[in-house]
Amino acid sequence: MSSTNRRSFLARSAVLAAVPTVAALADGTLAGQASAAPATLPDYAPIPPSALGPAVNSQGYYVGRVAKNLYWVTDGTYQAAFLTTREGVVLFDAPPSIGHNLQRAIDEIAADNGVSNRVSHIVYSHHHADHLGASSLFGRHVTRIGHAENKRLLARDNDPTRPLPDVTFENRYTLRVGGERINLAWHGTNHSPDNIYIHLPDHDTLMLVDVNLPGWVPFDSFNLNEDVPASMAAPAKAMTYPWKHYIGGHMGRLGTRQDMVVHQQYVADIVDNVRKALVAVDPTPYFAKYGNNAWAAVKEYQAAQVAYAAAPVIKKYTGVLAAADVYTASTTFIILESLRLNLGLGSQVHA
Ligand SMILES: [Zn+2]
Repeated sequence: MSSTNRRSFLARSAVLAAVPTVAALADGTLAGQASAAPATLPDYAPIPPSALGPAVNSQGYYVGRVAKNLYWVTDGTYQAAFLTTREGVVLFDAPPSIGHNLQRAIDEIAADNGVSNRVSHIVYSHHHADHLGASSLFGRHVTRIGHAENKRLLARDNDPTRPLPDVTFENRYTLRVGGERINLAWHGTNHSPDNIYIHLPDHDTLMLVDVNLPGWVPFDSFNLNEDVPASMAAPAKAMTYPWKHYIGGHMGRLGTRQDMVVHQQYVADIVDNVRKALVAVDPTPYFAKYGNNAWAAVKEYQAAQVAYAAAPVIKKYTGVLAAADVYTASTTFIILESLRLNLGLGSQVHA
């Protein structure tokens, strides 16, 4: 692969932008080492075609209509959305991996429809840099809206690429721009403390980022969710809203209500199998072998529980959700720890 091809390949694999070592690769500094990857890289099951969305253009993005004047943009790994109105464009998130392609996508749609291409508002789904790091590209004269905790977290992080929200709310806020309405709501912490439900009732659309990645299993370790029980409860809250189109913030296509059902079943299946593993896997051999090295015994015992619980889930979802064989084990470990620590499963009181 030429270095140009390697760079564009890495840019397309935009999820990698979140990983510092690969971000270093993308700027070429370690490019010479990319070919030194171990010869034993594992093979994974093919991605089901249902996980993939439309092809990106030569600039690396796809823009399409969600409903009426609501559009979505993807680079294949990250997603943003925007609403064109007579008073300007409302942008939802600004992932740095899409970056300057956000304005290009807006320009393309605005030119086709003869509407303003000026971004007047940016709604922040949550504070994470991988979804907001292109916010500063839109300058100072944009009204940014996020949860009150979003402002506190961004002030803490002090990142110039993510200007603080100008408008914050605690529980509910209706944004009205150019005759459009957008209902923002906070229903408690989930993936992050500030992650909000963005409902567009006139467009049959819900945007809830980093909870369900339609067509795919969650990213490593259950999407790195900061509150595991609340993240498991979030899909049911999402389903109480009326919507047909779901914008999950990730991967190459939009979601449906059926995608949410599949995601809920996947998580429920992991929970069921963790409960079985807590009963079925005998800790004795691990503690017998490692003696007073308690961490070695716990590590190997929990690895056996994870393997026991994850195997039937990987089998069931291979060909249904992409990358079931890649990340189900790490998500199973996080859910195992949550059931243990939050629900007290597997705890034994000393006699
Ligand atoms: Zn996030």
